[in-house]
Amino acid sequence: MEDAVAIVLAAGGGERLGLPTPKAFVDLDGRPMLLHAASAALACPGIEALVAVVPSGWERAASDLLDVVGRHTVVVGGSTRQASVRAALDVVPPAAPVLVCHDAARPFASAALFAAVLSALDGVDGVVPVVPVADTVKRIRGDLVDRTEDRALLALAQTPQAFDALALRDAHARAERDGVEVTDDAAALELAGYRVRTIPGDPGNFKITSAEDLARAELVATELARG
Ligand code: C5P
Repeated sequence: MEDAVAIVLAAGGGERLGLPTPKAFVDLDGRPMLLHAASAALACPGIEALVAVVPSGWERAASDLLDVVGRHTVVVGGSTRQASVRAALDVVPPAAPVLVCHDAARPFASAALFAAVLSALDGVDGVVPVVPVADTVKRIRGDLVDRTEDRALLALAQTPQAFDALALRDAHARAERDGVEVTDDAAALELAGYRVRTIPGDPGNFKITSAEDLARAELVATELARG
């Protein structure tokens, strides 16, 4: 699979981390999360360029950072993740046949995982890496349990996710038209009736949301740097 473009979503704030800096610009082992995520994407054969979506005012900082990793475009994101993806779709070269969406909040995604989602795109419209659910999952209403889900039928979705570019554009256009808000891009494709395949994700590719996640990530990054 060649000529894919990666979209790295980095326009979220740092509120839930309790930080004034946007999350993607927080350092892990001396490098901002955005740089970790972008380096892995561009280290994947077949990914030729990258679009980074950042908060307003962080365009120059992002561009300076990304100069070291390869071909990139920086664009300002929207108020939701979905709006940020749309902002990226507006600047992605129309000829790019395959797009890979990745959250900068997952700085430990490997180049191998990017390659895995790309190579699994054969015959489907989208590919999402998933990991099993270890906990028992309850559906709740208020503080009462409605029922217990069969966790064997559930999985936790990660990024990077790979897509046929036309399907991704169409799915996002439909979601916008229908006023539907999705929390990942695969969900937009599912709702639009496209075929999305799962592949095994990586438990080490965890998402940084809370201050506890960031503390864990700092330990992991230090360990990885030590080799
Ligand atoms: O907020 P959450 O952690 O779910 O965000 C997932 C990813 O989407 C993060 O990498 C974040 O930077 C990005 N995002 C974005 N634009 C927004 C909100 C989130 O690019 N408005």
